[in-house]
Amino acid sequence: MTGNELRARFLKFFEDRGHTVVPSSLLIPHNDPTLLFANAGMNQFKDCFLGMEDRGYYRATSSQKCVRAGGKHNDLENVGRTARHHTFFEMLGNFSFGDYFKKEAIAYAWEFLTKDLGLDKDRLYVTVYTDDDEAADIWHHQEGVPRERIFRFGEKDNFWSMGDTGPCGPCSEIFWDNGPEVGCGSPDCAVGCDCDRYMEIWNNVFMQFNRSADGTMTPLPKPSVDTGMGLERICTVMQGVKSNYDTDLLQGVIRHVERLSGKRYRDSEKDDVSMRVIADHARATTFLICDGVLPSNEGRGYVLRRIMRRAARHAKMLGFAEPVLYRTVDAVNEMMGGSYPELLEREEYIKKVIRAEEERFAETLDRGLAILNDAVDQLKGEGKTVIPGETLFRLYDTFGFPTDLTADIVRAEGFSIDEPGFEACMERQREQAREHWKGSGEEGIAAIHKTLHNREIRSAFVGYDEKCSYGTIS
Ligand code: ATP
Ligand code: MG
Ligand code: MG
Ligand code: MG
Repeated sequence: MTGNELRARFLKFFEDRGHTVVPSSLLIPHNDPTLLFANAGMNQFKDCFLGMEDRGYYRATSSQKCVRAGGKHNDLENVGRTARHHTFFEMLGNFSFGDYFKKEAIAYAWEFLTKDLGLDKDRLYVTVYTDDDEAADIWHHQEGVPRERIFRFGEKDNFWSMGDTGPCGPCSEIFWDNGPEVGCGSPDCAVGCDCDRYMEIWNNVFMQFNRSADGTMTPLPKPSVDTGMGLERICTVMQGVKSNYDTDLLQGVIRHVERLSGKRYRDSEKDDVSMRVIADHARATTFLICDGVLPSNEGRGYVLRRIMRRAARHAKMLGFAEPVLYRTVDAVNEMMGGSYPELLEREEYIKKVIRAEEERFAETLDRGLAILNDAVDQLKGEGKTVIPGETLFRLYDTFGFPTDLTADIVRAEGFSIDEPGFEACMERQREQAREHWKGSGEEGIAAIHKTLHNREIRSAFVGYDEKCSYGTIS
């Protein structure tokens, strides 16, 4: 079953059970300053859970574009290292706004996995929140899951919140055993281990509270349900592979990179990491730009820039001398354009933006890398393993290296970075900019006015229809 078929299958299953199919929202959250990017299917329904919006339906299902590369849920550092984390992924979800609760949510999830998809129950495990006996009993009595396959975890794993504030509640998760050949191989490896063997596939959140900024939890008007299942992860299970990167959703981009680079996936672990990073970042970049984000030096734009620069560096490692990320858009769109037609509509624009950013960074990437290599060599000679703040700052300021890129590059050498030292340099620069501004501020503007006045140039009001015009008044 292809990724595209699986997405459709999920939506149909819930549509058949009275859920309204709702399209994904944009990656830039609408009217929600607490959120950097859409990071879960429930985001667009936040006000429905809070009882502040009535859409006329109380059951919904969606496949939501998500980016987790900043804010509370940030998986940027996991990309390339785990088989299951992406910066961009799709979250399949079913939602109840005060309609059904735990019993029905658990029944639907189990039915979809074990009957509709026909998964082997002996490879599935579930978790519940520490004291959620109700959920544990439903799993056991209603669905027949043996007690020894039901685990209990605390706040970190089994209490879900969208961010520091907003709807939240205890959750129950479903895990798939990828088999003993996957993961850390430790005899203690079990559900909850951070390796890839027991892979979390689906989270069922029992939304019950709204957390406010001071931490108080107010019960929601009605208990609700929010679930999220990573499309790429359930694809891994259904396609019988061991990594999200081996599903058709990601393989299309990897094969494209193989063709462009003349290298083969699985020939060398080092190149494989680069190909996976590029495949992931190509999807994130394409979707983010499509939804209106532009690379810049702050906020969302800076997250995008950091993702793109990481990809550019991996492209360099694969041996590309010319910009190549913009050429991966074709592969992303071929796979995803059917479900997200906006990608095809904006294809040329997306490529242009990526290419411009790549070309811009290409001018300084090589020189920055050379400086960083020299610094590493010198520090090694001195027996040190931390890149000082001044070096980080220089790389950032002159060569456009975000600190996380530098950290990523030197990690392989066993080096870390002096983040506070970098911040101190940044602060010093801001300080200097303020000083500079003070010096040339008021007097500077006054001087310009004086010059204009001496040349008899005045601004004249010519009504609201015309642009402000400057002219010599005689
Ligand atoms: P994990 O513990 O594996 O990091 P999570 O607990 O942070 O996942 P949730 O917030 O519960 O994830 O999100 C619901 C589902 O979305 C997960 O069960 C998983 O299937 C999927 N998911 C979460 N993060 C990612 C990601 N970075 N890449 C791909 N899928 C993800
Ligand atoms: Mg996570
Ligand atoms: Mg988890
Ligand atoms: Mg989870």
